[in-house]
Amino acid sequence: MYTAAIDILDARFKRLVHGNVHLEKLHTGCRWAEGPVYFPAGRYLLWSDIPNNRILRYDECDGSVSVFREPSNNTNGHTVDREGRLVSCEHRGRCVSRTEHDGTRTVLADKWQGKKLNSPNDAVVKSDGSIWFSDPTYGIDSHYEGDAGESEVGASHVFRIDPASGSLEAVATDFVKPNGLAFSPDESLLYVADTGSTHVEEGPRHIRRFKVGSDGRTLSGGEVFATCDPGLFDGFRCDSKGHVWTSAGDGVHCYHHDGTLLGKIKVPEVVANVQFGGAKRNRLYICGTTSLYAIYVNAHGVSQPR
Ligand code: MG
Repeated sequence: MYTAAIDILDARFKRLVHGNVHLEKLHTGCRWAEGPVYFPAGRYLLWSDIPNNRILRYDECDGSVSVFREPSNNTNGHTVDREGRLVSCEHRGRCVSRTEHDGTRTVLADKWQGKKLNSPNDAVVKSDGSIWFSDPTYGIDSHYEGDAGESEVGASHVFRIDPASGSLEAVATDFVKPNGLAFSPDESLLYVADTGSTHVEEGPRHIRRFKVGSDGRTLSGGEVFATCDPGLFDGFRCDSKGHVWTSAGDGVHCYHHDGTLLGKIKVPEVVANVQFGGAKRNRLYICGTTSLYAIYVNAHGVSQPR
C-alpha cells in the first residue's frame, strides 16, 4: 500500500502519512547533512554540510541546489527567529550567530561565565524571542567538523539567550551531550536529545522532556521521553499537534506526545535532522548523511520554525 518505506507501528500513524507518496532524494554529495531550516517567504530550505564547511540552499520553486555560504564556520543547526532572520550554530566560531537583514553576521553568544562555548549544535527560538541551544563538544572533538580544541566550560549544557538583555544562562546542566531540541506547540514543554552514547559506553541516546516554567525561562522535570533504537536521536521537530518527528539510525521516527512510537519513515541513510517546509508546511525535509530527502506527510509544522 505504501510506496515509501513506511512502518506503521500504531494505527494512529496511518492518519499522519499518505499511502501514495514517495521519499524523494533531492540532492546528494554532502559529507554530513544537518541543520535544515525553512524560509516560507522565499520557499527555500537551507542546510549545513558540516565537514565541507558550507551551507547549501534548496529552492523549492525550481528544485535547484546552490551553495548559500562557504566557508560557513562549520555551521551545524539552524533556526529562524521571529523576525525571519537566520540563526546559526557555528562549530568553528564556537558561537551562536545571527544573519541580519542586511546580510551581516552578529555573534549572539560565544562565552558563558567568561569561558568559550564548546560548539553549539542546535537551536530553537521561543515565541518571546529567546534562543535556546545545546552545546556539546562534537565541533571541537576533532578537526573534522570544526577546529579541535579544549572544552573551557568542561561540560555540555543547554543554554538560553535572553531576548531583552542578550545574556546567556544555563537552563539544563545534567546532560552528557545535549543535541536537538524543540518546544511543544504551546511551548509548555521542551524536548532535548542526549547523544551521550557517542562518548560514554552505554550512555544516553534518548530524548528528555522538560516542563517550561510559567516564567517561560526555567525548566523542571526532564524525564526520558523516548530511547532511540537503532542509532541516536539527533535533531527533531514537533508538528502542530505535538507529535515528535525525530531523526534516528534507520530513518525518521514519529512519536505521539504520550511517548508511543507511532511509526517510521525508513530512509536509506542515517538521518541527522528534519524540518517541515512547503507552502502548507506538510513537506518533511530530511537530512540523511550525504543527501537531502523530502516526503509529504499528513502533518504540519508550526507556523514559525521551531
Ligand atoms: Mg545535532
